[in-house]
Amino acid sequence: MQTLPARSGEAEADPSGDTQNVWTQTRFQEILEALDEALVLWDSDLNFVLSNRRLDEMFDTRDITPRPGDHIAEVMRCQMQHGSLSLPDGLSAGQMISRWIAAITRYEKDIEVATKDGRILNASSHRTGLNGYLVTIRDAQRSAYEDRLAAVNDAIQALDEGLVLYDSEMNFVIGNRKLHDIFYRGEVPHPQVGENVVDTMKRLIDSEFYVIPDGQSKSAFLDQMTNTMKTYRKNAVLTSQAGRVYDTSVHKTALGGYLVSFSDITEQRRIERELEHQREITHQNEKLSALGELLAGVAHELNNPLSIVVGYAQMLQDQIDDPLISRRVERIAEAAERSAKIVKAFLAMARQRPAQLEECRLNDVIENALSVGASGLRSSGAQIDLQLDKALPLVMADADQMAQVFINLIVNAEHALADLGEGGKLLVRTSRNARTGDVVAEIRDNGPGIDPDIQSRIFEPFFTTKDVGAGTGVGLAFCHRIVDGHGGRLTVTSNARDGTSFFVHLSAVDGSGQETGSPQGKTTNGRNHQILVVDDEEHVADLIRELLEFMGHDVTTATGGREALRCIDSQEFDIILSDFKMPDLDGAGFHAALEKTRPDLAARFGIITGDAMGQKVLTFLQSGACPHIEKPIDVSELSALVDQLATKAGVSKR
Ligand code: ADP
Repeated sequence: MQTLPARSGEAEADPSGDTQNVWTQTRFQEILEALDEALVLWDSDLNFVLSNRRLDEMFDTRDITPRPGDHIAEVMRCQMQHGSLSLPDGLSAGQMISRWIAAITRYEKDIEVATKDGRILNASSHRTGLNGYLVTIRDAQRSAYEDRLAAVNDAIQALDEGLVLYDSEMNFVIGNRKLHDIFYRGEVPHPQVGENVVDTMKRLIDSEFYVIPDGQSKSAFLDQMTNTMKTYRKNAVLTSQAGRVYDTSVHKTALGGYLVSFSDITEQRRIERELEHQREITHQNEKLSALGELLAGVAHELNNPLSIVVGYAQMLQDQIDDPLISRRVERIAEAAERSAKIVKAFLAMARQRPAQLEECRLNDVIENALSVGASGLRSSGAQIDLQLDKALPLVMADADQMAQVFINLIVNAEHALADLGEGGKLLVRTSRNARTGDVVAEIRDNGPGIDPDIQSRIFEPFFTTKDVGAGTGVGLAFCHRIVDGHGGRLTVTSNARDGTSFFVHLSAVDGSGQETGSPQGKTTNGRNHQILVVDDEEHVADLIRELLEFMGHDVTTATGGREALRCIDSQEFDIILSDFKMPDLDGAGFHAALEKTRPDLAARFGIITGDAMGQKVLTFLQSGACPHIEKPIDVSELSALVDQLATKAGVSKR
């Protein structure tokens, strides 16, 4: 029997003694034996030359290995007798041998061979250099399995999830490419097969791969991770120092091993946070608008009674000689005016209308805001430093809304300065930014500053650090919305050493000159006009009448539009001042009727409304049909309205 020397275990010495030859032969044997395929070599006469061990394994022919020189027919007969080769049905041994010889000599490929245990093998014949025949045989079933395995492996490698398999002892078996990308790209070495998971985890923890939750020690973190494995926990969240977030799940395998998956959910988390933030803003906006409606309702109800207190208190002040009583009335007037301003502030805050932009002087707006908002600061003894740039250009702004912005900023500064008493300082400065050309107003306090951690949140609705009752968190959100609505910017700088500065940036009106005197004189330019006052609330109509009479005018009152029209039929008037919301004929209807019958009077028509939030009145006023003032009535505003109407219609002084 002559087979490859390697199959008997040891390389035989070359008879020529040529060691190089022996070495080559040994390598050749190694290669043949390492192959997964079976090999058998026949010479040109189909006599056996050699085969490898794989052939014996496939056909179970260890005991009948042919000798060199044995003819193929002989070898096959022997194998058939031995049962290594099975005869297909209806075929004689001779026919089978002839077929094989034909296939081999025609160098056919993929010839099917059945083994005695029913496996199908694939044989192929190849021509050798010496015109012999090399027959290779491979296990078709085994290679399909291997192909499937390779495909599975390929798919696992292609996954976007990191996957790692540990055996039942938690020793590393295999991990995919993504696993490597997540954990072992940097300095941490990849685990060796057989390495225990605890060692791998320790390495990752020691190299600061993970963010360890505050207050947790490294060993406690390691215990927690090991526990995650043991309990086959799903959806545990791990965060890396690089800022990535991984959803980690452990699955039990059929062989008792642990398959761990890592999905990168950083982006998903970011989107979730963003959505949550948006939901929160929407929710807060809804709350803000509900709160606004409530405030508007309350403010509206307060307008008429407040008008009476304010109006009569202002009138009484000038009529009383007794200094003590005069002082007391003055107090009432001040308190009532303050209340009136608060009501107006509520209304301005709650108003959803777009800003009504007009050219205005920011310095005046700020001075008004200070007169309302800085009383607390004054009484606490804080210094107020006003540095208003006299040469400031005009801005396009809604003066009411802007005043609210400054009142809010001033009141916040007052809160920030509460503990400093006389050491508190408020600086209010206006200037023009030389680079952008914007008008900038700065409200600075030397309070404790805003913690950097919350600076990004202070403009959120309902964000407050103040005690319940002291803060609502609405102020800055409102300011931001208003300044934004003006196309401007509200910014803040703050630190514990210098305190806090809020900056309101607004565009200057192109080519506008410097601020000079007052835009509208508040003084009356005429006296003794015949005025018709229309208001369905009798007390309010009386108050307006008395105020106007006090200014020297002759006044007639009516309690509704229809009654007013009757008055006009029988009497001449210079000016008409009308409420808007009245049961029989409202301000708009009354004005429309006048436009038809007495257009001259329609041009001298002013509205005094307590319902500046109502959609109907807003639409009417925005149409520019007539000037208006809002309740609670301020004497100087009333006087200015009369002057405006008198001037507009060219009513001459009587
Ligand atoms: P509120 O004043 O009702 O709390 P704001 O929206 O006006 O609501 O302000 C939100 C938060 O911003 C305040 O609670 C406070 O923490 C901070 N803040 C605003 N202005 C200042 C300031 N001048 N100095 C220090 N902190 C301030």
